[in-house]
Amino acid sequence: MKREFSKNKVVNCHKGPQFAFELGKARIWGSRAVDLSNLSDWDLMIPLLDLEYDTYMPKNPLRPNQEAIDLFPSHIAKSFVPAILAIDWPDMEVPYLSRDWWVDLVEFLQNFEGNVVFFCMGGHGRTGTALTIVATLGELIPDVECPLYWLREQYCTEALETYRQFDYVEQITKTQLWTEPSFESWYAAAPSGATVSYPAKTQKKGKKKKQTLLHQ
Ligand SMILES: [Zn+2]
Repeated sequence: MKREFSKNKVVNCHKGPQFAFELGKARIWGSRAVDLSNLSDWDLMIPLLDLEYDTYMPKNPLRPNQEAIDLFPSHIAKSFVPAILAIDWPDMEVPYLSRDWWVDLVEFLQNFEGNVVFFCMGGHGRTGTALTIVATLGELIPDVECPLYWLREQYCTEALETYRQFDYVEQITKTQLWTEPSFESWYAAAPSGATVSYPAKTQKKGKKKKQTLLHQ
C-alpha cells in the first residue's frame, strides 16, 4: 500500500465490485455503492448505508409485482430484482446488530447459492467490517491468521477503517484482531491538517487478476 503522509492519503485499491470469498455456495463480494449499476449481476444485495444521510442507493430499473413474477419465466422476472437486505449503518460507525444476528446471517449465507454483495459508500469501513465478521463466523480464517489481515488479502487493503469497527468485530466474533484500522491509524500518525483523497485508482503490478462477473 502506497501511503503519502505529507499531503494526502493515497489509496490504491479495488476497482469495481471485488470478489472476497466463498461461503458454501454463496459467492461473497464487496463494493462501493456507485459501482453497482447493473443490479442483475446480484442475487442478494446487502447495503450498509446510513439510511438518513447516504445519498446513493442503486436504483432498481424494473420492479415487477408478484403477478408479473408469476407470469414471466423466472430469468426475465427476477433478473432485475435481487433480494435486498438494507442495514442502517452510519459512516465510520457500527450497526445495532447483535452477535446472534450475525450468526444467523452467516448460517443463512452458508445455505444460499448465488452472488451476494455487501456495499457501502467507499467499500472499505462498513463493508470491510461486515466481510471480516462473516468470514470469521463462517470459519474461513486459518487459526494462525488475523481475520482482518486475511480479509484484506482477499478483498482490499483498506478494509475496516475505525477503532470502533475494530472493537465491534472483536466483540461480535469473540476473536482478536492484530491489524490496524486503515483510516484512524493513518489519521493518528499523519501531520495535523492532512487531508484524505481518493485519486484515480491504478492497477497494482503483481496483484492477482480481479474476478469480474462478466466472465462467469
Ligand atoms: Zn478498496
